[in-house]
Amino acid sequence: MSNSDRSRPADTSAHLDKSEDIPAALRNEDSDRDRANFINSGAKSPRLPFGLIALGLGILVAGGAIFSVLSAAKAPLDSFQTPTVAANDPQNPDSSTSNNSQPADVDNLLNHLSYEQAPDAELVSIGGGYRLRKAAAIKFQAMVSAARSSGVNITTISAFRSVEDQKRLFFGVGAARGQQPTKRAEVSAPPKYSEHHTGYAVDIGDSSVPATNLNQNFDTTPAYKWMKANAATYSFELSFPKDNIQKVSYEPWHWRFVGDINSLETFYKAHNLKGK
Ligand SMILES: [Zn+2]
Repeated sequence: MSNSDRSRPADTSAHLDKSEDIPAALRNEDSDRDRANFINSGAKSPRLPFGLIALGLGILVAGGAIFSVLSAAKAPLDSFQTPTVAANDPQNPDSSTSNNSQPADVDNLLNHLSYEQAPDAELVSIGGGYRLRKAAAIKFQAMVSAARSSGVNITTISAFRSVEDQKRLFFGVGAARGQQPTKRAEVSAPPKYSEHHTGYAVDIGDSSVPATNLNQNFDTTPAYKWMKANAATYSFELSFPKDNIQKVSYEPWHWRFVGDINSLETFYKAHNLKGK
């Protein structure tokens, strides 16, 4: 990111951003893929004869063996997708990555994790042309209202972004700047790899200190301090705190909703990051 990007004057207009890494307009996309269903089916019937139980156990063991073979075959591909990313630039907004690589068994691309795009029917307006999933939108708006009641003005800088938005940001802007993919990935997630696809993530600013928008010194603002104290009440958390397990650089402006089972699965179960 050049200095000219950073020194651009603050603009509180809903459709303009200081960074080209954030789309100016949010558009409906027709890709309505549902999220993977993690529910394990496994109906149990009581009083099964021993023979049937033994047969069932045999099938489970055989299935497990096949799964192990498939997993082993897939492992080299995952390892291949674990390049080292160059040193991060703290001034660059959103999705900067550090120079630490992911654990080899976490599916990632240039340190960014893959996400499904939220179904269009799930997205609702949070004002200013921005959209989030319904559950997240309700809590986000309540949170912003509560902050305002305390004299803190939280503004939205980005929310839902489609895979198509991200293609333009990653490849279009990257090409315009002459950036190689590894360099581009330091400041922008590749398409299909942004938390913003989920409809649960939002970038916020403090309208009283707009110069801190998308900068790490956003954490000195009243908005950030209010969020640190109150966001959990509204089921929002910081996606990339300092020294986060995903090895993404510190982004005090980027928050995600984790207040229902789908969002929890999206950010925790899907990538199985805990304990790695
Ligand atoms: Zn963000």
